[in-house]
Amino acid sequence: MSGGWGFETRQIHAGAIVDGEAGARVTPIYQSAGYVLDDFDDGVERFAGRSAKRAYSRNDNPTNVVAARRIADLEGGADAVLVASGQAAIAAALHALAQAGDHILTTDRLYEGTREMVRGSLARQGLEFEQLPIDADEERWVAAVRPTTRAIYAESIANPLGEVADLALLGRVSARTGVPLVVDNTVATPYLCRPFEHGAAVVIHSTSKWLGGHGSVIGGAVVDSGAFDWSAERFPHLHAPRPHGAPSFAERFGSAAYGAYLRSVVVLEHGPTFPPTSAFLLLHGIETLSLRMERHVANARAVVAALAAHPAVARVHHPDHDDAQAEVVGRMLPDGAGSVVSVELRGGRAAARAFLDRLRLVSQMTHIGDVRTLAIHTGSTIHGKLAEEERLALGITPGLVRISVGLERADDIVADLEQALEGLALEEPAP
Ligand SMILES: *Cc1c(COP(=O)(O)O)cnc(C)c1O
Repeated sequence: MSGGWGFETRQIHAGAIVDGEAGARVTPIYQSAGYVLDDFDDGVERFAGRSAKRAYSRNDNPTNVVAARRIADLEGGADAVLVASGQAAIAAALHALAQAGDHILTTDRLYEGTREMVRGSLARQGLEFEQLPIDADEERWVAAVRPTTRAIYAESIANPLGEVADLALLGRVSARTGVPLVVDNTVATPYLCRPFEHGAAVVIHSTSKWLGGHGSVIGGAVVDSGAFDWSAERFPHLHAPRPHGAPSFAERFGSAAYGAYLRSVVVLEHGPTFPPTSAFLLLHGIETLSLRMERHVANARAVVAALAAHPAVARVHHPDHDDAQAEVVGRMLPDGAGSVVSVELRGGRAAARAFLDRLRLVSQMTHIGDVRTLAIHTGSTIHGKLAEEERLALGITPGLVRISVGLERADDIVADLEQALEGLALEEPAP
């Protein structure tokens, strides 16, 4: 579909179907559990995977397929699979790469849900995770790769502090070692960053955030670049012969073997199904992604400028506002660095509490990527289960408030934040 069309055109048209019977131009919601088998032999063919026709909506639904193809197209990938949430996407993506005893390298700046999963249930299932500093150099990454390493995992813009991974560097590590680079591109979106252009093999999204964009959808996507060699030794489940003489995934699907395995084994067996009603809402969100991201970025810049100049604010975290990573940000995010702005208030936790409780326009909510501006004290909520030392090691200071800048008029957002900052303590009260 890419056929030379620009991003703005593809976000509206890529993967779209015209509904055969009714001629609907808007992709309909196919709220159907399953699909009629033409006859006995057709059923045999569909279940053997020899027919392109679908059988069951657990892993194959026409509305979802349109949304998945659209996301794959915008990322520049070959195939995408939609699942029930961003968490489900991360779990499914890693499950399709690694098994007990395998090793996964990640940066040390991860969304807390991911960090909990890799330290918790995935560790319990026998996967070993090793973290390297997000700014570690190429030789250090290469040296950390073991024969059992199955993925290098990074967030293009880390949530919540906005550290930016040098995907080009990690892409070179992947090319040198044959280990696929997996990138959670939720905060950047394909409008601002396309990890496949830097050598990633797999892209993950929480579609609950900017792709859906309106706070109405929980969902996730895993995108296969279609450019990675899955026939390598590291991935026997993709290249070994299958039962009863069936060809391996690599033989049958070539460089799209990973996406095929994800859909027809991991999602079929585990069943993290994405509802087609959500795919319908997701498609409507994606149709305006470029417009929304431009405004999100502009509004975030206005918020950064206002807060950085405020005496009650000790520090503002946003990729645009960090000299130390300016070079990487310029290369990875030339069109803007997203709209998550975290601020450290000088008055610590008490100031954060007063600030949040005084907000009138901005809502206290845990998600990000909504049309509405949202704020939260992550240290007492998302990171609330951690010990204070662990929080500090992650950069979650007592006065840290994360703001997901929405699409309201910039002046109104800034005015609400400023009125809530008025009169806050300018230093942390003695304990
Ligand atoms: C929210 C988020 C997730 C998890 O997505 P859900 O849809 O909430 O399950 C994963 N990665 C990042 C970067 C996120 O912000």
